[in-house]
Amino acid sequence: MTDADALAVGQAVAGLAPAVLQRFFLQSGEAVLIADGENCIIAANSAFLHLSGYRLDEILGRNPQILFASRNTPEFYCAMQQALHESGIWTGEIWDQRKDGSVHPVWLVISEVRDEAGQLTHYVATFTDIGERMAASQKLLHLAYHDPLTHLPNRLAFESQTELAIRGCERAHTKLALMLIDLDHFKAVNDTLGHATGDELLKSVATRLRECVRSSDIVARLGGDEFVIVLPDIDGILMASSMAGKIQRYLAEQSHTIGPHGLYATPSIGISLYPDDGVDRETLLRNADVAMYHAKDAGRNNYQFYAHQMNEAAGERLQMENALRQALASITPQHSPFMLHFQPQISVATGSICGLEALARWHDPVLGEISPVRFIQIAEESGLIQPLGDWILWEACRNIRTLHDAGLNDLRVAVNISAQQLRHENLPLIVRGILDCYELAPGDLELEITESTAMQNPELTRDILQQFADMGITLAIDDFGTGYSSLAYLKHLPIHRLKLDRSFVKDIETDTNDAAICSATVALAHNLGLEIVAEGVETCAQRDFLSRLGCDALQGFLYSRALPAADIIEFVTTQRNAAD
Ligand code: C2E
Ligand code: MG
Ligand code: MG
Repeated sequence: MTDADALAVGQAVAGLAPAVLQRFFLQSGEAVLIADGENCIIAANSAFLHLSGYRLDEILGRNPQILFASRNTPEFYCAMQQALHESGIWTGEIWDQRKDGSVHPVWLVISEVRDEAGQLTHYVATFTDIGERMAASQKLLHLAYHDPLTHLPNRLAFESQTELAIRGCERAHTKLALMLIDLDHFKAVNDTLGHATGDELLKSVATRLRECVRSSDIVARLGGDEFVIVLPDIDGILMASSMAGKIQRYLAEQSHTIGPHGLYATPSIGISLYPDDGVDRETLLRNADVAMYHAKDAGRNNYQFYAHQMNEAAGERLQMENALRQALASITPQHSPFMLHFQPQISVATGSICGLEALARWHDPVLGEISPVRFIQIAEESGLIQPLGDWILWEACRNIRTLHDAGLNDLRVAVNISAQQLRHENLPLIVRGILDCYELAPGDLELEITESTAMQNPELTRDILQQFADMGITLAIDDFGTGYSSLAYLKHLPIHRLKLDRSFVKDIETDTNDAAICSATVALAHNLGLEIVAEGVETCAQRDFLSRLGCDALQGFLYSRALPAADIIEFVTTQRNAAD
């Protein structure tokens, strides 16, 4: 409207008789509310009463704030009031509350009315209910991002959600699995039983897929009988393969009841992993597609990883996980497939054995001797580290008791604790219980956590370590130098010792960089009041070098490998007798 038009309209309205204006106000389909200059309601038309659910006598004299809904923030109302005072009018979308407490979106126009002297006399507000319009646009939005048949996110939504998930994993340095799922012989269902039955089967499959993953995982339908699942933040291939197995079971183990038919839907699943098989969505999807065709070739109803070695590795690891599970279940007070061996630590000051490190050993009847590096990792990934870690603590303390009973009560025994165990807030209680059970003092025990473990979840780690330190247990950071942490960070943890990783010790005589790092680490650690233990000492030259640098204790094959408890008792006793 031009200024001239506005003026003309103004003049025409001004010329109207009050009775006409009154009739207009009462009849208007638009909800209108009028408040005085003090913002007290003085009039409302029937459209307003209908919209708000109030009777007129319930609102007269009250402040329009009674309509405010908590969905609008206080900041929103402030900004609205400010705009109204500055320009005399405010228009916009707002949530209002009806008398019955329900909220609804309205399009609101509020304007100030001033007299000739410029004095504010009234506020006039009109409300248009936009609930239906909004519902319609939300429905459109839903349609744009969802598959109308299954209501799962469609390809468009999958693309944007997956991009976000990948970025999240990139920031958190975690892995992500993308699984492309194609139903086997779905075409036959459509061809023989008709498309309506095929559609129902797809809906049933969609429901089962949604049920078998976490709510934070992405499940989408790309089209036809092709679905995709994205699992962010997974530990590795073992978790991906157990999820794929679960999907397979969920879909195929029980038939889908569609009308009179009991239909089976087996999947062929192709899996690609971020970042191993690709760092962007297109590459991951393409590689999952390749893997899915391998799954079809391999006889359908199975899953395949994109990288072949991953299939082998997944199979091997699954076999090992099962063996580990069985081994744990077979533990009795008399027998265990696991053992602890003990490796001595030598004090540089006295040249005698000052402590032992407990190292886990596992002999499986089929798989043979398995390195703890491998089985501890599998135990961590499969949730078995809790029972295994508990067993290790019990066994270590039982052996400390045996050492004491053999007259060796001045040897502190270090036990390795994994990251997963530290996440268990009960760990300090468990340790205290075990120490009490074997009548041991907290000073008899040392706990080693790796540098990378100490870096994870710093708050929780700090809290639990503090509880151990308060109990009087010695704490050591293992494999120091491999985790990119700084001493400045570690000094916030209540630790007592640093174990210099053996990769530095290995070339210490020849690699000047390693020597410089070791030397600087020893100096800094001593400044912070920490003891330094060097791991993996194999030669006399390394021993001499590390002693000169000021290391406090040495551990390695030069002195002894890790030995069973009985052998270590003999070893220590012989050494001590020889020294006397
Ligand atoms: P770690 O805690 O750093 O243990 C030291 C490893 O270095 C042991 O290997 C030990 O046998 C080996 N080692 C000791 N001296 C020498 C040497 O002079 N030269 C060489 N080349 N190696 C030496 P092991 O027993 O195979 O254990 C490997 C890792 O497995 C351990 O590293 C630890 O991270 C983990 N681990 C072992 N036992 C346990 C356990 O009971 N609990 C947990 N959570 N982890 C364990
Ligand atoms: Mg260790
Ligand atoms: Mg170590």
